[in-house]
Amino acid sequence: MKKFLHTLIFMMTIAALFLTGCGSDSKSSDSTLSVLASTTFLADITRNIAGDRLVIDSLLPIGMDPHSYQPTPQDMAKIEQSQLIIVNGAGYEQFLTTLLAGDGKNVIEASAGLSPREDAEHGADPHMWLDPNLVMAYVENIRKALTEYDPAGAAIYQANADAYIAQLQELDGWIKTQVGQIPSDKRLLVTNHEAFGYFAERYGFEVVGSVVPSFSSNAAPSAQQMAELIDEIKRLNAPAIFLDTADNNILAKQIADETGITVIDDLHLESLTEGAPAATYIEMMKYNVSRIVEALN
Ligand SMILES: [Zn+2]
Repeated sequence: MKKFLHTLIFMMTIAALFLTGCGSDSKSSDSTLSVLASTTFLADITRNIAGDRLVIDSLLPIGMDPHSYQPTPQDMAKIEQSQLIIVNGAGYEQFLTTLLAGDGKNVIEASAGLSPREDAEHGADPHMWLDPNLVMAYVENIRKALTEYDPAGAAIYQANADAYIAQLQELDGWIKTQVGQIPSDKRLLVTNHEAFGYFAERYGFEVVGSVVPSFSSNAAPSAQQMAELIDEIKRLNAPAIFLDTADNNILAKQIADETGITVIDDLHLESLTEGAPAATYIEMMKYNVSRIVEALN
């Protein structure tokens, strides 16, 4: 009932926004480009390209898991006020589907042109940002979008994008060196949901399995899936299970009770943090890799 009421209030607010929208046809004459990114790490990546030239906001606040996010009436207003919306794409922003339907907004998919990992049951895997090489493609898509909407800033966006891609290349090299410290038979990842596919592919990890066998954290395993994961952990002697700080860790702890596996439940995979340890996308990646290397050594 509470959920129903919540939905009803939300729908009414949207209706009200549309009505006021129709009443005043005075489209904002403010020439400042207002850019909205769906999540905190996309906002950071976009800021690196925009520099001081544009103001970039994130729709989701810090610490929020996009997989289970429920949009608020304020989100609708933010979207209304933005000229450009940057999303990850590949099905990541389920919460935006209804908000953007028929809106005609300029929505840019940062992952456009990349081929997602797919499986028949769960669709596309959106977690491409966990491989910095794929983020280089995000940078190029975002640079093009900013340039199209603000052609006068083209040279700035190009220079900033080049500098940021150099930082991402450096990050990639750093991750390779760090992962090189893990004995090859311990490069095993057990995770909350299937977030590490691209990362594992790039850096030579085997994904043993996930507590939630889905590309989203917003799902639940069956008893049989839990039993199979426990068998795999025992068979491969996987040292650690990795969760985002926003994930519920109850099932992981049950698995740990049965297998002795270490639970690392303070990664930052879907959101930045306010200040350390994951204030930027690059810091977020370095922090996660450091936690993984410590746990698997
Ligand atoms: Zn995820």
